[in-house]
Amino acid sequence: MAKFALALHGGAGARRSRDYSREVPHMQGLVEAARDRLAAGASALDVVVEVIRELEASGLYVAGRGASPNLGGKYELDASLMWGPTRAAGAVAALQGYKSPIQAARLVMEKTPHVMLVGEGAMEFAARQHLEEVGDPEAYYLRAGHGESNHPPGHAAALAHGTVGCVVLDADGRLAAGTSTAGVFNKMPGRVGDTPIIAAGTWADADVAVSGTGQGEYFMRTAACAQVSWRVRAGESIEQATKTVLDEIRSLGGEGGLISVDRLGNISTPYNSEGMKRAVLTTDGEIRSEVFE
Ligand code: ASP
Repeated sequence: MAKFALALHGGAGARRSRDYSREVPHMQGLVEAARDRLAAGASALDVVVEVIRELEASGLYVAGRGASPNLGGKYELDASLMWGPTRAAGAVAALQGYKSPIQAARLVMEKTPHVMLVGEGAMEFAARQHLEEVGDPEAYYLRAGHGESNHPPGHAAALAHGTVGCVVLDADGRLAAGTSTAGVFNKMPGRVGDTPIIAAGTWADADVAVSGTGQGEYFMRTAACAQVSWRVRAGESIEQATKTVLDEIRSLGGEGGLISVDRLGNISTPYNSEGMKRAVLTTDGEIRSEVFE
């Protein structure tokens, strides 16, 4: 029987003081739908984008509709996507005015010679591709992660955060990864974190697919997702590799989590924050959706 596997996250900014009774069944439902798509032969790339679009549209996570504004009152969103077989990649950063940053990232990958478009250029591109617009940001965005910030506005050093991501091994043995976010709370205008940066927030190749969530500044400084791949290719298990990278992030003072799947379907979802919204589908068909240990 063909083997496929998937992991998704809804952000490592989870706090025990908050109730996740909507997120846990929502993630479970998305994994069940993805399982049916993968069983029918869907590609890892399609499933990653479909799952992330649903996470963005739900308004339950700090990505897509769940976004919060930056310190300038603007909603600037980031996303990236990588396809393992060819290492094709696409990303958008500081995108304003469009509902699905992951869809914009996919179009950058498929329709341009570039990997990343930012700001005005990303918006002009999204308009030319007729992507769905937000309209009135104040009416659309739901500021989902507000209760996850332990710090008053202006306390930017705390980097309270949330994000969504998905990694998939499909039935043909192909890997893909994607990540989408509104970034950290109280971020400065123009701040871009790890999420849209290939190698920091997202990575997929022939061996492993990885998506990060956490204080992006630390994921950039450790090349977190690509480092997992280098370690796996050097012979480490994804369990060891993801843990070592998270330990390095911790040693620099950062927190967060990683989800990853390798070409055999092994899954690893460690985090060093209080919790991480996450769900997995194992090669045995088992589904788990959880936030804490
Ligand atoms: N990594 C994201 C960022 O720094 C936030 C998060 O994952 O919670 O923008």
